[in-house]
Amino acid sequence: MIKKVLIANRGEIAVRILRACKDLGVQTVAIHSTADADAMHVRLADESVCVGPPHPRESYLNVPSVISAACVSGADAIHPGFGFLSENATFSHMVEEHGLIFIGPKADHIAMMGDKIMAKKTFARLGLPTVPGSEGAVTNINKAIKMADEIGYPVLVKAAGGGGGRGMKVAHSRFEFTEAYETARREAGIAFGNDRVYLEKYLGQPRHIEFQIMADQFGNAVHLGERDCSLQRRNQKVWEEARSLVLTPEFRDNFGKKIAEATAQFGYLGVGTLEFLYENEKLYFIEMNTRIQVEHPITEVITGIDIVREQILIAGGSKLSVSQNDVSFRGHAIECRINAENSDTFIPSAGTITNYHCPGGPGIRVDSSLYDGCKVPPYYDSLIAKLIVHANDREQCLARMRRALGEYVIEGIDTLIPLHMKLANNPDIIAGNFDIHFLERLNRED
Ligand code: ADP
Repeated sequence: MIKKVLIANRGEIAVRILRACKDLGVQTVAIHSTADADAMHVRLADESVCVGPPHPRESYLNVPSVISAACVSGADAIHPGFGFLSENATFSHMVEEHGLIFIGPKADHIAMMGDKIMAKKTFARLGLPTVPGSEGAVTNINKAIKMADEIGYPVLVKAAGGGGGRGMKVAHSRFEFTEAYETARREAGIAFGNDRVYLEKYLGQPRHIEFQIMADQFGNAVHLGERDCSLQRRNQKVWEEARSLVLTPEFRDNFGKKIAEATAQFGYLGVGTLEFLYENEKLYFIEMNTRIQVEHPITEVITGIDIVREQILIAGGSKLSVSQNDVSFRGHAIECRINAENSDTFIPSAGTITNYHCPGGPGIRVDSSLYDGCKVPPYYDSLIAKLIVHANDREQCLARMRRALGEYVIEGIDTLIPLHMKLANNPDIIAGNFDIHFLERLNRED
């Protein structure tokens, strides 16, 4: 059993993890940069350690500082949250070498899934359908052109080490291909230190559908159904729903079980998400995330399962507290990501929150680290809060979302609240009529 957790993160996810620890009676240690000395996660933790200056490289990504903070504070485990060090296999290995528990999967599974080519190969071997494309990395422009012709345009050039919606270039014809290929390779080399790329058919109207899974060290694995995360800007999600409107209960059950079995088969440990694109009534695997996801709360509210609690318990050596038969779904949930960004231009916004009022009432959950007078520093990801709404059905959920967005006051910086209000009133969204390109189209029309 884990007794003390160091949370190697900041913002709303650090607060979320703190809450799970407190509910379990586990002690908490926050880390922070000098820019975050007054942050909510620092205030709520039992102890805190400053790990460096504002720039993430010097603080939240500073491995020696983070591991030293865990050792001096007597923590027995590190929870990485998402982003920062959460998918860094070397970090997780170092954590274990220091006699600490890394709350996440084994280092070799992080490495395996961090390489998208390897991830696709692994799940294809385990019987899951993948997006049609090159078998592995393409290293030679002539072979790449031949391969792209075979796949058929439009073709997507993707970085093996890509993430966060970056490292993708689309070519609509052979004429555009060489540039897309060279640019993707160059950018991937700079951004991810790995210039291996592969090709995928660029799907025209897919939905992004992902399955949540949890697995323990005793070979038990369950799925918690799916989320539809099609509403994205620059390949990054802004609005998520559970469950999706497109899978039948039978399809969900069968496919979910297949995924859970596949993850159990390769000995996966902890929580994870398998991401798919859905087109023509078929799901195609694109990647696996080996960490807690931003959008996990919508699954929590419809299943009643605290995924972060399970994650901590599994890492401490416990069995999953639920079997597949215990998992059921109630109602509909939507999450709106409240980013500190301009709603029209998506330009990040930093500053001091001069007035803060959080929505409440039936079916509303807000995961945030905000308070009146708090600072939103310019150095970090723009996600500052998540508004999660739950209701008996989707129609009531949308009505509640409109009510909650109307109540939410965040002054002093720009946020995505106006965009979400527009989406919650949009006839196509209300009708459930959208795919991953919906937001781009909406922006073009405006
Ligand atoms: P990341 O790791 O950067 O999140 P993903 O592979 O998960 O990258 O893809 C992110 C998003 O990019 C998807 O949700 C989807 O919107 C878009 N995308 C990825 N692959 C394709 C594809 N083959 N066709 C069309 N869109 C795609």
